[in-house]
Amino acid sequence: MSSGPIPNQVSKPTVASFGMRLRVFLRLLCGLRKHDFRAAATWINTMYPGVSPVGRLIKFLRWSLWQMWCEIPDALCTAKFAPIVSRTPIWLAAGNPLENHPWGSRPDAALPKRVHIVVIGAGFTGGALAYHWSRRAASNPDLTMTVLDMGEAASGSSGRNEGLVVMGRYCHMVEQTVLRHLPAVRPNLSEPDRQQLARQFAVAYCKAAYRNGDLIEEAIRREGFDCDYARHGWVQARDADQQAALAESVRTALDTGLTDWTSIPPDEVKLRSGMAVTHNAGYSIAAASFHPAKWVWSLLNSSLRSEKIEFYSRTKVLKVELVGEDYHVHTTRGLIKAHTVVNATESYTPLLHRQFHDRILPTQTQAASGDGGPAAMPPHIGISGTRGFFGKHGDKVMVGSDATRVPDHEAGRIQPSRFITKFLLGEMRRYFGDSRYHITHEWSGTVSYTPDEYPIVGVMDGHRQYIIAGMAGSGTGVAFNAARCVVNRILELIDEPDDYPPEYFAPTRLLDPEHHTWPKLERSLGG
Ligand SMILES: Cc1cc2nc3c(=O)[nH]c(=O)nc-3n(C[C@H](O)[C@H](O)[C@H](O)COP(=O)(O)OP(=O)(O)OC[C@H]3O[C@@H](n4cnc5c(N)ncnc54)[C@H](O)[C@@H]3O)c2cc1C
Repeated sequence: MSSGPIPNQVSKPTVASFGMRLRVFLRLLCGLRKHDFRAAATWINTMYPGVSPVGRLIKFLRWSLWQMWCEIPDALCTAKFAPIVSRTPIWLAAGNPLENHPWGSRPDAALPKRVHIVVIGAGFTGGALAYHWSRRAASNPDLTMTVLDMGEAASGSSGRNEGLVVMGRYCHMVEQTVLRHLPAVRPNLSEPDRQQLARQFAVAYCKAAYRNGDLIEEAIRREGFDCDYARHGWVQARDADQQAALAESVRTALDTGLTDWTSIPPDEVKLRSGMAVTHNAGYSIAAASFHPAKWVWSLLNSSLRSEKIEFYSRTKVLKVELVGEDYHVHTTRGLIKAHTVVNATESYTPLLHRQFHDRILPTQTQAASGDGGPAAMPPHIGISGTRGFFGKHGDKVMVGSDATRVPDHEAGRIQPSRFITKFLLGEMRRYFGDSRYHITHEWSGTVSYTPDEYPIVGVMDGHRQYIIAGMAGSGTGVAFNAARCVVNRILELIDEPDDYPPEYFAPTRLLDPEHHTWPKLERSLGG
């Protein structure tokens, strides 16, 4: 940590005057928009577990008033917004090397009439599918792949996120979300059996995620991808009332041997992240950070060296139908016939495939980025408070939060809540103290959650149409390895482990739970 002068840091805590408090308070009230109310409902439901609905509402109102009158005005003494705040995610601000591909350089280009496989979506998932295809289908010239995106490469969540390469969600969290959902789909199981099944789901997920993290690092090193990759872990603050849950989650990690997830004391939190906390924090040891859009562009650029793979931006898929032996992929630029289709459309999926309405839930998350920020915040490490995340990438500091479901048709919309950004300024101040911070970019994206917050990876129609989705805001923990497994399955290659067995990950788990082949209960697992 620097011992020299710290230009951004403000030496004495700043406190807003009465007039400033009133101004900020009124501005916050007048600036409330539809999404603020939706987000408030989410926060009311998640912030006070175990409290009655009325109790939660009262607590939330009290907390909101405190934020609006005290925390936010104090934070706004040193944090400012640019006169015009850009809605372009910071990762895309310097331009996109694959913009308008191939139309920009080849306006007369045309979609192929027939290919072996169409991938819909060019984010983490579509990029990974192209990359693995380029490596695994190399020997056969007939195995052509076309990747389509209605926007640009990495224009979805993959170019709008926090830039953490996560080791997935930690085991205990996955276990809990699956366990909550199991009574709805496995009503006949006893409670101990459900607990056992949830544990198995969690272990399967984490094993796949751990391999995913290592595969990403291997690919970056092997290919020499320039995407600012650094592996320094992810610190996640926990308040006093969350310490028991943290200890339990670390115990689960030990019980299962999935020991990436651990707990660190306040002095280590300070050392690693710069956050001043009074209680232990969770720590994912092997999480990394990177430039997520550069990762997607690198994957695609490397794949496009293969003559078998083509990418078309600004090409929207309107419908996919199975006609005889072929899939007819109807797009805004014409029809492509394909033997196989993979949907890499994450939160947009229900718009294309209505059967996923209420099964893939588009969920809004937002971020803002700017200059300055806490001098004590080290770069390239994952940092989360209890209600938001922070990160330093190069000379930019990012803040972000939210996980509020939005209607299907709002997938991908950029509609960040200014209220949430201002709230995050208060949170950053709480953990790092005052600092001068100048926000220049603010945006949102949609991730997708399934009802059990567990991904789906596999065939979705009983034939040859696949999907990888439902990554619960942790796409880097799933997409790369899942794409590898799907490519291997399509190519019938069995020389590598398949980390996404259908009994856990197949979409039938959501689409037809009654007829889904559920995993057998294994009694030998811990817990
Ligand atoms: C603010 C924020 C912070 C996040 N932080 C992290 C993080 O630190 N680490 C992490 O792992 N994850 C994070 N996430 C989640 C992560 O970004 C996603 O899980 C991941 O990007 C999903 O990748 P994807 O390729 O499956 O989907 P997307 O990147 O959303 O790509 C889907 C693509 O499909 C295209 N598409 C959709 N429908 C069609 C159609 N009909 N025709 C053609 N194209 C179509 C879209 O244009 C889009 O480009 C965050 C997300 C947000 C919003």
